[in-house]
Amino acid sequence: MKLFRCQVCDNIIYFENRTCGRCGHRLGYVPELETLTALEPAGGESWTPLAGKGAARRFCANADYDVCNWLTAAGGQDRLCVACRHNDTIPDISQPSHLVAWRDIEFAKHRLFYSLLRWKLPLKTRAEDPAHGLAFEFLADPPHPTGPKVMTGHDDGVVTIALAEADSAEIEKRRAELAEPYRSLLGHFRHEVGHHYWDILVRDGGRLEQCRATFGDDSQDYEAALKRHYEQGAPADWPERFVSAYATSHPWEDFAETWAHYLHIVDTLETASAFGVRIAPAVDREGAHFAKLDFDPYVVGTIGGIVEAWTPFVVAMNSVNRAMGRPDLYPFVIAPAVVEKLRFIHDLVRGLGRTSGIRTEGAEQLAAAAR
Ligand SMILES: [Zn+2]
Ligand SMILES: [Zn+2]
Repeated sequence: MKLFRCQVCDNIIYFENRTCGRCGHRLGYVPELETLTALEPAGGESWTPLAGKGAARRFCANADYDVCNWLTAAGGQDRLCVACRHNDTIPDISQPSHLVAWRDIEFAKHRLFYSLLRWKLPLKTRAEDPAHGLAFEFLADPPHPTGPKVMTGHDDGVVTIALAEADSAEIEKRRAELAEPYRSLLGHFRHEVGHHYWDILVRDGGRLEQCRATFGDDSQDYEAALKRHYEQGAPADWPERFVSAYATSHPWEDFAETWAHYLHIVDTLETASAFGVRIAPAVDREGAHFAKLDFDPYVVGTIGGIVEAWTPFVVAMNSVNRAMGRPDLYPFVIAPAVVEKLRFIHDLVRGLGRTSGIRTEGAEQLAAAAR
């Protein structure tokens, strides 16, 4: 995630901010400019962004609940922003706890959309593509305590997020039960949308054979594979070939897990780069732990360069977290075989080789040269 600057007072402002902490200006995110901007009132519901000298805009209707700070065209048909128009079902917010949970869900969802929009990935709503459009259902568990629970998951473009995943006690309980080193709302969004992009970029995008060569044959029975995983667990050598134990369950899950990790890595590196982070331990005589984070990993850098920057950064951040008595920031190790899987995702989101079907780093070098 980028850092932003208030156009009025030069204060640093952050993605989720609603007002500038220094000058008090109202702030809103303009997705087409990929920027958070200070706003001047323009009468009625209209605001003039100070970034980009753009036309007047209005807030997404979900700003009324303080769950969205994105802007949309003033006078346009759609009252919802480009991120919120994918919401199919939201919880019953007459219950105050649901509103609190929905807000956390929207924070994570908007960070997901930031990434999807940075890569200009295809985004169709259900209205635009009734068969494969992307839609979200944020569902609370039924009131009966022994009744069925909402399952977080993906089904043909419809991503369901259980409201319970916004409850920190519940998320920790499930994390421990499933022996996961990491579980978060943002992780769920990144994983589940990975299944959606497998559908449209891999299966329908002419890359199925390449994907199978990297992740394995996905034609094996999915339900049986998951059942086997939950009964027998992951093979002992999984860290050499997979990014997580769950990724071993089926090639579709391997793809979604690797996709999620790629999004974690790129967005976290962008954040570190925005802060000008440099890792250069004085005790490192060989320079193997050096990383200067000063590049935009959404646009430049090969997968090799991204992983080379990521590794020293994560070792440092994990150590910092341990100093605070916190769990590791990134409790995973990326094996060489996993880098090859990340390379597939990297090429996919950057659109590399999408037309020829052959991977090429040429476009990447051009982007690096143009920088
Ligand atoms: Zn300001
Ligand atoms: Zn919105």
